[in-house]
Amino acid sequence: KFSNPHRLGFESSNPTGKIPLGLKRKGLRIVVTGGAGFVGSHLVDRLIARGDSVIVVDNFFTGRKENVMHHFGNPNFELIRHDVVEPLLLEVDQIYHLACPASPVHYKFNPVKTIKTNVVGTLNMLGLAKRVGARFLLTSTSEVYGDPLQHPQKETYWGNVNPIGVRSCYDEGKRTAETLTMDYHRGAEVEVRIARIFNTYGPRMCIDDGRVVSNFVAQALRKEPLTVYGDGKQTRSFQYVSDLVEGLMRLMEGEHIGPFNLGNPGEFTMLELAEVVQETIDPNAKIEFRPNTEDDPHKRKPDIGRAKELLGWEPKVSLRNGLPLMVSDFRQRILKYPRLENP
Ligand code: NAD
Ligand code: UDP
Ligand code: UDP
Repeated sequence: KFSNPHRLGFESSNPTGKIPLGLKRKGLRIVVTGGAGFVGSHLVDRLIARGDSVIVVDNFFTGRKENVMHHFGNPNFELIRHDVVEPLLLEVDQIYHLACPASPVHYKFNPVKTIKTNVVGTLNMLGLAKRVGARFLLTSTSEVYGDPLQHPQKETYWGNVNPIGVRSCYDEGKRTAETLTMDYHRGAEVEVRIARIFNTYGPRMCIDDGRVVSNFVAQALRKEPLTVYGDGKQTRSFQYVSDLVEGLMRLMEGEHIGPFNLGNPGEFTMLELAEVVQETIDPNAKIEFRPNTEDDPHKRKPDIGRAKELLGWEPKVSLRNGLPLMVSDFRQRILKYPRLENP
């Protein structure tokens, strides 16, 4: 059904209903909003390798041209500088909607902009999906569970979120984005998919994004102390980016709406993470304690039973195997541009 030109927004006056030659193509046309960011750029690599035509829509708030530069000149690749808070007209088959800052440091930088991106940006992309009959995938987050009172978190848990806190622009923004997604599905029959992503790491993360894995890796490489916030006993579950991309693609291609937790159930305290970073980079790296941030969730671990059963998906890369892949990328970038915070 993806080869039907009407679904792509082309009005044909051809009474035979045959697709004009110039419109025939093998791959899908896919928009990746936020495609110049960390996760988006890895997704774009996989889609291009599969033979799809990819349009990246990004305002470069946290994304970088360098993440997708290797596709410049490929006729199957387009890059549009655009803010999803503004409407956008395109003709496509699928929309992967990732545009939104993901690191607490970035999303707290301009909270009103963050919530506008999540609400108005998602509304626009759903409007686009409705107009052209495209399938729409929302990258939501484990943050919809807030500071969870259930452990591990199942998709059926409704969460424990502070609606007026400093993280709310992101948490509540994503919760509203999920609501909009389901309402466009129920009200306008848009085909939708929802992924709830747990902490993900890998090459191309912003070096200065303040997230714990990027901080520890950059600190160890620069021979600075690893900054552990609070007592370091809070937990997170860290997923390598290739596992996430596989999960997102299976979700998009599959029959199930979700929401699906996509994360690695391996749970670590921040002190344990610091130890893995020490083992991987520098056993002599020091640890320095700092005050924790406001509303920091105490624990987080996905129950991935639903994704295992319905998508046939589970993560393959452990933290100890994934971390070295990220370290070599960070080492290269830090060596090349030692004075830049975010090379
Ligand atoms: P990222 O910051 O690297 O990527 C986000 C991209 O969106 C960037 O390229 C940025 O420039 C772009 N963007 C932001 N606001 C925009 C706007 N208004 N218009 C157009 N583009 C905009 O973050 P990421 O880690 O790649 O996250 C991608 C998505 O996955 C986000 O929606 C995030 O909420 C979700 N997610 C990520 C994680 C994680 O651990 N990485 C966890 C949960 C959810
Ligand atoms: N929209 C968009 N691209 C499109 C179609 C719609 O950006 O191809 C935007 C549109 O500007 C609107 C939002 O998506 O702000 C929701 O569109 P919808 O048609 O659902 O609602 P309406 O325009 O009727 O309010
Ligand atoms: N954290 C830390 N040191 C840092 C950065 C973060 O100990 O340099 C902690 C932070 O307090 C939180 C956890 O690591 O408990 C994960 O933080 P991150 O910002 O990576 O992601 P999120 O809070 O969104 O899960």
